[in-house]
Amino acid sequence: MDLIRENWVAIKEAIKEEYNITDISYKTWVEPLSFYNITDNTINIVISKEQSHHALSYISSKYKNFFKVTISEMFGVDYEINFIMENDKDDFSVSEPSTSNLNFNENYENSNLDSKYKFDTFVVGSNNRFAHSAALAVAESPGELYNPLFIYGGPGLGKTHLIHSIGNYILENNPNKKVLYVTSEDFTNDVIDSIRHGNPSSMSELRDKYRTVDVLIIDDVQFIIGKESTQEEFFHTFNVLHSANKAIIITSDKPPKDMVTLEERFRSRFEWGLIADIQVPDYETRVAILKKQAEKIDKKIDEDIFQYIASNIKTNIRELEGAFTKIIAFAKLNNVELTKELAEEALKDVIYPNKNKEITSTSILNTVAEHYNLSPDDIKSKKRNAEFVIPRQVVMYLCRTLTEDSLSYISSIVGKKDHTTVINGYDKIKGYMESNEDMKKTIEIIIKKIIPS
Ligand code: ADP
Ligand code: MG
Repeated sequence: MDLIRENWVAIKEAIKEEYNITDISYKTWVEPLSFYNITDNTINIVISKEQSHHALSYISSKYKNFFKVTISEMFGVDYEINFIMENDKDDFSVSEPSTSNLNFNENYENSNLDSKYKFDTFVVGSNNRFAHSAALAVAESPGELYNPLFIYGGPGLGKTHLIHSIGNYILENNPNKKVLYVTSEDFTNDVIDSIRHGNPSSMSELRDKYRTVDVLIIDDVQFIIGKESTQEEFFHTFNVLHSANKAIIITSDKPPKDMVTLEERFRSRFEWGLIADIQVPDYETRVAILKKQAEKIDKKIDEDIFQYIASNIKTNIRELEGAFTKIIAFAKLNNVELTKELAEEALKDVIYPNKNKEITSTSILNTVAEHYNLSPDDIKSKKRNAEFVIPRQVVMYLCRTLTEDSLSYISSIVGKKDHTTVINGYDKIKGYMESNEDMKKTIEIIIKKIIPS
C-alpha cells in the first residue's frame, strides 16, 4: 500500500506520459485524483469534492485501465481499480495502522523529504564514494560529527538524492527527530514572506520552523548567497543550530573556496565540518545506475543497450536516467522489442541535440545563460555585477569566435548599443583565458555544449 501511496504522483505522471494526455485533461481529471487505500486487492482512488457523480463515471470509464496497466507495469502487481467520491470514503476504510507510527508520520509529513531517495537506491562508485560514506556517517550520528556536512558537485550528479537519503535514514531509525529539507529557494521564499508580513509573529514562525529542528538540510545553498536578508537569516539559523549540536547538511554547485561572492564568515563555517565532492560518474558506475533503473521496472535489457547509453551520456545522471526512461517508453509506445537500434533511434535527439542545429548568436546567448544559471534577459540587462558581466562577455567572445555575425549585431544580442563593447568583451575573455586555467576550461565546456562532438 505504501508503495502505491509513495509513488502516487509518479504513477499519475507516468499515465500522462504514456497515454499522451493533454495538459488540460490531466489537470482536470487525473491530477486531482488521490490515492485512498487498498482493500481486497482493489486500489480505491478518491475523486475530489469539486467533481460530480457524472465525473465519477467518466473518469472511471476513461482512466480505469490506464491506472491498471501503468501500476502493473511499474510495480509488477495487478490491482483492480475503483473510483469513489470523497463523501463515500468511509465505506471503504480499513483499520489504520496503530498509533505507534504517529510521530513518524507527523515528522515525516513536515520534513519535505522525498521517500524515493534513499541510500539503498543510491549507486556507489568511485565518483561519490567519499560523499556517500560521509552522508551515511552523518545519518547514523547526526550532529555528532561532520557538522556541517557540505556536499558539492555539478548538476544531476546525485546531491539531492544523497541528502534526502540522510533525512530518510534518520527518520526511519529515529522517528522522533525533527528533520527539515528545504531548497534554498524555499528558504528564501519563507524569509521574504516573513518580511512582507512584517510582524513579530511571522518572524517567530520562521524561527520556529528553522531553529527548532534536529536536522536541517539545505539544498543548493549557492542561491542564498548574495541575497542580503536571506543570507542574514541563514547565518543566524546556522549559528543557533550548530551551537546546539544540531545537524546541518548543505549542498552547493561549488566548494566554498570557489564561491566567489561568499563572505568569509560563511566560508569558514562551511569549512568547520566536512566537505565532500561528487564527481562525474565513470563508465562502470553509469552502467550500474542504468541497471538499477532496469531492476526497478523489472525488465530484462540487453547489455549492449546499457553500454550504448552509458558511453554516450556521461556527465549528468539525470540525463542518463531520462535516456533510459525514454527508450522504455519508446519501445512500449511503438509496441516493439527493445533493441540497440531502437535505442539509437529513440535517443538521437538526446545524444546529438545540436546535430542539425545552426550555431547562431542567439543560440550562443541561450547556451551561455543556461550554463551560468541565468536567463537570457539577465545577460541582456544592464546589471553590472560580476555574475552578469562575465557571462555577458563570454557571449560576446563566443559569438565573435563561432559566428560570422557583425559586431553591431552581436552587441544587440547582449543588449548593448555600442559595438566597441563587443571588442572589449572579447578581449577581456581572451585575456582571462590566457591567465586563468579555470576560464579556459569553462569556455571549452560551453563550446562543447554549443557544438557537441
Ligand atoms: P543533483 O541534486 O546533484 O542535481 P539529483 O540528486 O537530483 O542530482 O540526481 C539526479 C537524478 O539522478 C536523480 O533521479 C537521482 O536519483 C539520480 N542519481 C544520481 N546519482 C545517483 C546514484 N549514485 N545512484 C542512483 N541514482 C542516482
Ligand atoms: Mg539537486
